[in-house]
Amino acid sequence: LAAAGLLLRGRARDAVVVAGSTGWAAITLDFARRRIAPGPRNPREVARMAVTSVLIPPAAIAHRVRGAVRHRRAGPWPPAIEAILFDRDGTLIHDVPLNTDPARVAPLPDARKALDTARRHHLRTGVVTNQAAVGRGEISEDDVARINRRVEELLGPFDTWQVCHHASTDGCECRKPQPGMVFAAAADLGVSVSRCAVVGDVGSDVEAALAAGARPVLVPTRHTRPEEVLAAPLVAKSLATAVDLLLKGNLSGGNLSKGNGR
Ligand SMILES: [Mg+2]
Ligand SMILES: [Zn+2]
Repeated sequence: LAAAGLLLRGRARDAVVVAGSTGWAAITLDFARRRIAPGPRNPREVARMAVTSVLIPPAAIAHRVRGAVRHRRAGPWPPAIEAILFDRDGTLIHDVPLNTDPARVAPLPDARKALDTARRHHLRTGVVTNQAAVGRGEISEDDVARINRRVEELLGPFDTWQVCHHASTDGCECRKPQPGMVFAAAADLGVSVSRCAVVGDVGSDVEAALAAGARPVLVPTRHTRPEEVLAAPLVAKSLATAVDLLLKGNLSGGNLSKGNGR
């Protein structure tokens, strides 16, 4: 009524203030009433409910606005991929258990093509590989390094190498499905982990990616278990397809321009 009266007298701005604060007060009263009603309704409780009922709405609105602003500033989601981290055995090269002979390193058919595509699109590349045979004492770190050099001869240079030499019983934080190597690779590349993809052939590659907050792509082989394929958020039939999917995602969801929203 007061607002209507002010409006009739041509004081529109005052009318809005009166209507607004009356409305706010009414809603606050209703909020307090609902919170006090269930009890125990002693003076302490009623006082606390009254005070917090006044404070909660502005705090909630401020929180909501802050979230909306952060969301807008964060840029497109999912963010554009800037780096692809590949599992080694069964993904880049055929898995030859306990291989210490560089001559037996054989890339998967489209590995070179997939990596060329990634590099041509200015994506950084890396390798994240579990080499537990070192931890078990079956091969040496030098053996692994020799194989890795051969991988680079065949597939070109990678921007980062992360190798876990621990046995599964060591309880380290790097061995996949732990996220340690994904974090280390992202840090080494200077790329946010949310802008890294992890491409691998088994469930632990997917799990390491998810645990780190990176984007997993599973490229199953005949050794990949069906439940691992079912559990993977993104499955590609080949390495080249995996890279194509990630690049396509960059074009549609994210943004290809480098450094956007970082
Ligand atoms: Mg593998
Ligand atoms: Zn480790």
